[in-house]
Amino acid sequence: MKLLLATRNRKKLAELERILAEHTDVELLGLDDVPEYPEAPETALTFEGNAVAKARDGVRYTGLPCVADDSGIAVDALNGMPGVFSARWSGRHGDDQANVDLMLAQIGDVGDEHRGGAFVCAAALVFPDGTEHVVRGEARGRIIREPKGSNGFGYDPVFVPDGFDVTTAQMSAEQKDAISHRGKAFRLLAKLV
Ligand code: IMP
Repeated sequence: MKLLLATRNRKKLAELERILAEHTDVELLGLDDVPEYPEAPETALTFEGNAVAKARDGVRYTGLPCVADDSGIAVDALNGMPGVFSARWSGRHGDDQANVDLMLAQIGDVGDEHRGGAFVCAAALVFPDGTEHVVRGEARGRIIREPKGSNGFGYDPVFVPDGFDVTTAQMSAEQKDAISHRGKAFRLLAKLV
């Protein structure tokens, strides 16, 4: 069976491929492997809404079963924001440095006891017959005051997962996969393929 993961991110493809390793009958494709189609902007106010919309589009335009994900960081002291706006929190899509700087400034006077948060990932699997599954993976932790580490991306340098004393930017890709929101969501979906 061919399965589309609606992303151009090779790291996400490789991660899902590792998780699907025992499904030897599944051939995983990314958006660069299928004819180009119009990608709608992410306009939903929930991770689940964005993930399902992207997966439905993938099925509509390719006829293949499709997985899509949407993720971000939910900061307790900001009532769950940046949330679905994580990639564009500063107003500039994909400007990791500006997004992190703004979020850190916003919680600058929040005490250590209230600096909890979570990386969240919703992943959707939609089949051409209309069957839909949506799952959520979360990794809880706390937001530190100064960035540490240079691995990963986005908010990794300021996020220390529960049970660790290093940021996810100080972990190897394999260590992070094992505890990450995306790893958890993809592992749940792999059971449904
Ligand atoms: P997307 O779901 O790939 O579009 O990611 C949305 C945004 O959430 C990213 O641009 C990052 O700012 C943030 N984000 C999602 N997952 C992670 C992660 O594993 N580490 C750090 N930041 C993340």
